[in-house]
Amino acid sequence: MKAVGLHPDVFVVTSRIWQTTCTLVKSGEEAFCVDSPVLPDELELLPAIAEQASFRVVGCLATHADWDHLLGRYAFPAAPLGLAESSAARLRGEPGAAQRDLREFDEEHYVERPGPLSLPSAQALPVPGHCAVGERELELHVAEGHTVDGMAVWIPWASVLVCGDYLSPVEIPWLSPGGSVSAYQATLDRLEPLVERASFVVPGHGAVIDSERALAVLREDRAYLSALAADGADAALPLTRRNGAMKKIHAENVERAGSRPSPAG
Ligand SMILES: [Zn+2]
Repeated sequence: MKAVGLHPDVFVVTSRIWQTTCTLVKSGEEAFCVDSPVLPDELELLPAIAEQASFRVVGCLATHADWDHLLGRYAFPAAPLGLAESSAARLRGEPGAAQRDLREFDEEHYVERPGPLSLPSAQALPVPGHCAVGERELELHVAEGHTVDGMAVWIPWASVLVCGDYLSPVEIPWLSPGGSVSAYQATLDRLEPLVERASFVVPGHGAVIDSERALAVLREDRAYLSALAADGADAALPLTRRNGAMKKIHAENVERAGSRPSPAG
């Protein structure tokens, strides 16, 4: 697991699986853990890494309700979990789904965990909105389209954008169940002014990137989504994201983008 400092108050650890990112942000005596690494040894190590950096984690946040972003409470079991209202509603609407998906992953990869994932009733955060940490406030922005729910977290005093599963240098836009091209495009429009101001962008999967690189990914993602809507399976994938795994995601996207009723009915 890799750890990178972006600011005295912000550092990011990256999981060995899917390059899933976890961002720790602090102000004064309080720190939050945003999203999570995936593997048990990484989650076990995280409290020690936080403590060493003098980050006292008092809360967990997740950018969206996909299981691989919800594991922070394995590391910080006493910390309450805060989610966008849309994500809290999704968890309520699909009880046990995150636990089931985690169990499937663990069974497939022979991963053993200290116990089942406990997701106590999440605190639903109004988005757009603010969330206080220590003496400062995080800005929460709507980020939907990958899934039906989600938020991006803007850390104003560090100019860091934690955007969830958007703007990834390693993953093409992915329409998971509940995702949609138009919602995804609206999220990119919403994120663009933040990306322009950002010192760093932390995607849900992949390396931390600077503003210029993130804007390049944003342009590629826009082009891909337009092509997906217009040309379906024939849409060209971004040049640096064309491997076998991305082609599988693309095939899923074609199904989801095409399965929505056309405006003509
Ligand atoms: Zn993800």
